[in-house]
Amino acid sequence: MNLRVRKLYEALFALEDLRDIFRQALPGGLDESEEEQLSNGIARVETIIKDLKEGRGSPIKYAEDKIELRTREEEFININPIQPGGRLTAEARKTLIAYGDGYSVCDMCLEGRLDKIRKPAVDEFHAELADFVGMDEVRVVPGARRGFQAVTSSLLEKGDVVIVSDLGHYTEYLAVETAGGVIKEVPSGPKNIITGDAVADRIESVKKETGKLPKLIIIEHFDYSFGNEHDVYGVGKVAKEYDIPFLYNGAYSVGMVPVNGKNIGADFVVGSGHKGMASVAPSGILATTDEWTPKVFRSSQIVGDVTGRRFENKEPAMLGCTLMGGTLLSMMASFPHVKERVKRWDAEVKKSNYFINEFLRIAGNKISSEYPRKHTLSKVDTRDSFDRIAKTHKRRGYFLSDELKRKGIVGEFAGSTRVWKLNTYGLSWDRIKYLSETFIEIAEKYALSVKRN
Ligand SMILES: *Cc1c(COP(=O)(O)O)cnc(C)c1O
Repeated sequence: MNLRVRKLYEALFALEDLRDIFRQALPGGLDESEEEQLSNGIARVETIIKDLKEGRGSPIKYAEDKIELRTREEEFININPIQPGGRLTAEARKTLIAYGDGYSVCDMCLEGRLDKIRKPAVDEFHAELADFVGMDEVRVVPGARRGFQAVTSSLLEKGDVVIVSDLGHYTEYLAVETAGGVIKEVPSGPKNIITGDAVADRIESVKKETGKLPKLIIIEHFDYSFGNEHDVYGVGKVAKEYDIPFLYNGAYSVGMVPVNGKNIGADFVVGSGHKGMASVAPSGILATTDEWTPKVFRSSQIVGDVTGRRFENKEPAMLGCTLMGGTLLSMMASFPHVKERVKRWDAEVKKSNYFINEFLRIAGNKISSEYPRKHTLSKVDTRDSFDRIAKTHKRRGYFLSDELKRKGIVGEFAGSTRVWKLNTYGLSWDRIKYLSETFIEIAEKYALSVKRN
């Protein structure tokens, strides 16, 4: 436990308490008792800051009753497979403090449309966001999954076929299910990689089986299981040849990897705010072309039978507004950083390969993902190394988690020493080297042999 990190939280919380005084006071100013509360509160903050400076006092464990502090990004190196791309920037954390209240983005909503709000500059953000992924129009959505759902609910009739990868994410399946569609999977084959040819073959087989073409193709650029790169350019080409709309699933790319939807040949680009854009969950984006905008971002047509009420400025596939507060503001605050960081994707891949190369020096360690790595998410196989130790260790598979935690590393699947995933995204070179050395030290401690460099 890092006392200074805990003190930092304590100080932040104490400042929040001060904020509450103003939230209760009359607009004119504080009365006598409130002034006293304020100065007592400030004194409390000062004491905490003094403790922080001197590194003393007792560390807090809870944010609120039964809600533990979350300090894994401050006290540890976190290699959790799904979390690194959604780690907030300092800008997002600050903005979240200011915009945490419920419908906070709606202060200056003049048209009843989220994407048209000018203060804060939500409209400008939308314009830049569409450009960022190389598409014409974009909406923010509560997670990539809601982007899939907006598309499936707009494009599918009951029984329509959707092509997905056999490595597809479960949320793609559910989005097809809720729209009454049918899934046909493309095999990723022995290499665990989807090719344009495999998609074309599957389209042909669906045509033969059903006499109809699939209504939609959903393929991820990088799958959640291996973090392998799939041939989305090839898929885009095949989709064009058959004139079937292609949804590019960028949950593991948008916000980390440079993405240009039109160059890929995508009709829809879906990204995840909390997986790839340093944003609060649930958040994400759905972008499309001018061709598909009237279909997916169509206006509401419904009319109340008694009242005659209409909602023509609302978009039914979005259920009107989507991200009305902290989620959207965190996306917006992180966006300048996100736009820059995608330019450094090559460096992230380089660090990923450095780590994996070091990891593979440990005898018996294997990589299940494609190698060399093209992503920071990797699936590793330690059945012939760490799992052998686990078999006779009194803590079983937890021995590895224990050893890692002792060295300040968390996020691996606790207790798993067989086949598991990790993600090095965003780790500095110092952290990457530390991480690599730690695995080698643990191997040596348990007498696993380590190959020389
Ligand atoms: C994480 C993930 C999703 C789901 O993203 P959400 O933003 O949480 O809805 C979808 N597809 C893939 C490939 C993913 O990795």
